[in-house]
Amino acid sequence: LVEVRGLRKAFDGTPVLEGVSFEATEGTVTAVLGPSGSGKSTLLRSLNVLEVPDAGTVRLADDEIDFGTFAGLGRAQQKRQLAALRGHSGMVFQSHHLFPHRTVLQNLVEGPVQVQHRPLAEAEADAHRLLDQVGLADRAAAYPSQLSGGQQQRVGIARALALHPDVVLLDEPTSALDPELVGEVLGVVRDLAAQGRTMVIVTHEVRFARDVADQVLFLDGGVIAEQGGAEVLTDPQHERTRQFLSRVL
Ligand code: ATP
Ligand code: MG
Repeated sequence: LVEVRGLRKAFDGTPVLEGVSFEATEGTVTAVLGPSGSGKSTLLRSLNVLEVPDAGTVRLADDEIDFGTFAGLGRAQQKRQLAALRGHSGMVFQSHHLFPHRTVLQNLVEGPVQVQHRPLAEAEADAHRLLDQVGLADRAAAYPSQLSGGQQQRVGIARALALHPDVVLLDEPTSALDPELVGEVLGVVRDLAAQGRTMVIVTHEVRFARDVADQVLFLDGGVIAEQGGAEVLTDPQHERTRQFLSRVL
């Protein structure tokens, strides 16, 4: 479902991704770990083209962009390719990015109605179902500021799901939360994994990753230094991975 080949990205001449390749099959959870600055967010943002990579390909479901040739395409064709690729994923950020002056329900129907042109009634019914799924059925009329950080993040997850994505991308969804709120958000992600959602999640929660990840990517200096199943986190083969895990565990 996800296929990334030879992804490269530099900022102002400094390479941040130096040839990253991986695949994720439908219904699997891929956890991306690695030190600060190793390129985790850049990789995730490249998957829905919030960053435009310099080279390499990203395929989600049956749509692919080859970034080696992308810059040379006409504007209309670029827009078409971007829309097609972006349509396959939903993103959850470190902080929730909800619209502060809109209710939870309005936040959830915004994307489906404005971007996907789905009927409002259908989007609202969907939103209520998703709020129920993240344990917030009774908060549809609340404003984001009236919710706890953990609740806001759960709305953020519901909002990503409202787009009916094939793959959900989560960038450190719990790292901005107070420790006592982390569990409720990880619990929602755990439920999604159990339901067979395809997810790519950047996280520093090693124990959580060990529990839910089918695939682990350890990123270091813009390359995948180690890759495998959850055993990467219990029995790392590379010194860098070992050092990293001994620091965060
Ligand atoms: P963290 O764990 O701190 O979130 P990360 O692994 O997600 O780190 P990235 O955010 O992908 O790392 O950043 C990788 C490198 O690219 C860093 O050195 C960062 O400063 C740089 N970088 C990221 N985005 C930009 C940008 N928009 N412009 C310039 N440099 C950037
Ligand atoms: Mg990051």
